[in-house]
Amino acid sequence: MTEPLATGATIGILGGGQLGRMLSVAASRLGFQCHIYEPGANPPAGHVAATVTTAPYEDEAALTAFAKSVDVVTYEFENVPTAALDLIESHCAIRPSREALRVSQDRLTEKTFLQDLGLKTAPFADITDLTSLEAAIEKIGTPAILKSRRFGYDGKGQVRLKSPADTASALAEMKGAPAILEGFVDFSCEISVIAARGPSGEVACFDPGENVHKDGILHTTRVPANIPAALRTDAILLAGRILNALDYIGVLGVELFVTPNGLVVNEIAPRVHNSGHWTQNGCTVDQFEQHIRAVAGWPLGDGKRHLDVEMLNLIGDDVLQTEALAKQPNTALHLYGKADVKAGRKMGHVNRILGPAS
Ligand code: AMP
Repeated sequence: MTEPLATGATIGILGGGQLGRMLSVAASRLGFQCHIYEPGANPPAGHVAATVTTAPYEDEAALTAFAKSVDVVTYEFENVPTAALDLIESHCAIRPSREALRVSQDRLTEKTFLQDLGLKTAPFADITDLTSLEAAIEKIGTPAILKSRRFGYDGKGQVRLKSPADTASALAEMKGAPAILEGFVDFSCEISVIAARGPSGEVACFDPGENVHKDGILHTTRVPANIPAALRTDAILLAGRILNALDYIGVLGVELFVTPNGLVVNEIAPRVHNSGHWTQNGCTVDQFEQHIRAVAGWPLGDGKRHLDVEMLNLIGDDVLQTEALAKQPNTALHLYGKADVKAGRKMGHVNRILGPAS
């Protein structure tokens, strides 16, 4: 796929959650149609997309029909099975590329890739059994975090080790899943860069946001991040290096720790990112439109920040405050249309406008 997609073309999206929903809204504003592929029933993205395929990622006939019906395929989550991607790719381009997925799906591959690029990460070691964990603790020390190499998100698949006495219990909690041990990073704050790259190599990054997590889940993102201007520039430059190294097409989220020794990369996400939701009300072109533009081969838009914004996630019961939130001034509500309220489930978010960009 080399030519930009014409308006009216169809963008296939793997995954039908809130990110797929907001991508579909952005795509429709540019005149595209979206076709969602999602195994679960009644996906939030299905409410706003033109077409939905409800089928498992093992259904070869459904995957083939999906891939043949769209002009490009993108995804809203990184754990799509490899065999499904192989099949789709035999019919249609996938953007961002398979390489971006391969690198970010596995924490060990990801950290190795980042270090090879010359970027700082937490010290880490591959853990396969008790012996390798004991050796890693000897080298890295405690406190430390044992993380599953794959399928971890929102703090899931992670166990903290306060001291070497926690070794056996932490390993038992991993239930045999391949893991890495990470040294604990003593950070002053967490920030993220939402970065976009088009097929021609053009790059546009949003202003870094400052993130606060609660129980491993993103709670708020605030822009501007309360860090020196030089660090903001460092963050953007390192995101650009990651994009170039992956020959990336689309939007990528880069999560960073701010430490006295500079920026340490926590992880990268090859997709639009929760910590970029503030762009919907803070910028002329938001992260969702930027991603759609990139995968469609259109010029990237102007992502300059016009406002100071705080994004607040509505998790579980938080969504019951909707009526009160709807009455608040300078507050934009974004709800995902999820029928069941469950603890820890992302139900929506609000963007609070704090004032003109400072
Ligand atoms: P992750 O799923 O890797 O993004 O981790 C979720 C959250 O746990 C991060 O946003 C941090 O707040 C914290 N965390 C993860 N890894 C580390 C680390 N190596 N050192 C300190 N805090 C961490």
